[in-house]
Amino acid sequence: MRFLVEGTTSPWPEALPRAQCSTDPAAPADAVILLEGAATDGLMARLAKHDKALLPIGNFSGAQFKRADYAGPALSEVGLTEFTAKAIDILGRLSELPPPAAPSDRPALEAMAMAFSRESELLADWCPLVPEAVRYPLLEGIPVSRESLEDLAAGDLLRRRPFDTLHLCGHCGSSRLNVREECIKCGSSNLRQTSLVHHYRCAHQAPAEEFERPDGGLLCPKCGDTLRHYGVDYDRPAEIFHCGDCGHVNDEPAVGFVCMDCGKRTEAERADKRTWHHYALTSKGVAALKAGALPARSLGAAIARIMGTYSPRDFRLLCDYQSDIARRYERPLCGGVLEVANYDELAQRLGGRRLNQLFTLLAEIISQTLRTSDAVALSGRLVLVLFAETPRAGVERALERMRQRADETLSEPVDLRIDIFEADDWERFMEQVP
Ligand SMILES: [Zn+2]
Ligand SMILES: [Zn+2]
Ligand SMILES: [Zn+2]
Repeated sequence: MRFLVEGTTSPWPEALPRAQCSTDPAAPADAVILLEGAATDGLMARLAKHDKALLPIGNFSGAQFKRADYAGPALSEVGLTEFTAKAIDILGRLSELPPPAAPSDRPALEAMAMAFSRESELLADWCPLVPEAVRYPLLEGIPVSRESLEDLAAGDLLRRRPFDTLHLCGHCGSSRLNVREECIKCGSSNLRQTSLVHHYRCAHQAPAEEFERPDGGLLCPKCGDTLRHYGVDYDRPAEIFHCGDCGHVNDEPAVGFVCMDCGKRTEAERADKRTWHHYALTSKGVAALKAGALPARSLGAAIARIMGTYSPRDFRLLCDYQSDIARRYERPLCGGVLEVANYDELAQRLGGRRLNQLFTLLAEIISQTLRTSDAVALSGRLVLVLFAETPRAGVERALERMRQRADETLSEPVDLRIDIFEADDWERFMEQVP
């Protein structure tokens, strides 16, 4: 076993056989050993540059490093033996996998290879160092985004298990937010919690401070009586929040967020949320790994690559906006839902690579048929299109052109099913938006 050694090597650890070691990240290596003083910041990026992101890592540095496959105290013979055994196991599993067939599939296949070789879920973990506040320690150094992991899960290559749901800043999308109680009227967090005092005799109710006298007693500001006995003269029916900025009094404050990245405020009710998942490899994922290729993508994925699509949230906003305009000014509006009805049959018959080619062509036809003002979003296998300012007849003409060109161009019969929704049926269209 050849080791790449990071950290302080003088004095050289007795347990480490010098002949098997190098400190040059470019030198061939089977495993990485971290000694005291190893710089773990950016380590995975450096390893990735030398194609070593998947190597087993033994952490003997004494510092925490979550990506490590083995962690022990200062390097000893026992520790090295244990780590070596584990590394052999990991390398054995990695050697079962062929190199990725297509370069574009590589990050996703490497992410899955981490789960496979470590026999572990890809666990999400808190990370205050990044705006999204969540990271996957096992995936450090592998350029795979949350979106591509979700994509793999949508394709049944990974199985999701919820980690947590985080709120997002409405301005910059960060999840590094301070949660706070706010005045429901002006949004200030300058709230004082106090109690409401109720004077039985005159029925006056007000915040306690209006009753409080400098000497400590209570005096009714309405009738001037002194309040002596709790339960006899007065009671405190509720806890209230008194805004120090606008003076508003309320019994339940609002909840809001202040972003630690951009400093702006977002109301809790309006904040978007993002759910993060742990991911486990499925048998379909293992099959893809052993084939060295990702199976066919959906039509939606091909469209997203060619023309870009709206996120469900933005699509929803756009739809709401356009349907408002359509209603107010009696303008035409249509929504379309496209689906390849014979997807399963095609996938089975053509296999991944050919289906991808077919869908790339079809996506090109679709993107050339749509106008730049048409908005597209994806929901599973469905492709949702918003045709602003377009009557049904116009949409039908466009879709007919699309079908015709597909029939002429494509080598395989694609059964493109299309539902059209008009303004009076808008709710049913919106039900399709995830
Ligand atoms: Zn922000
Ligand atoms: Zn009174
Ligand atoms: Zn206020």
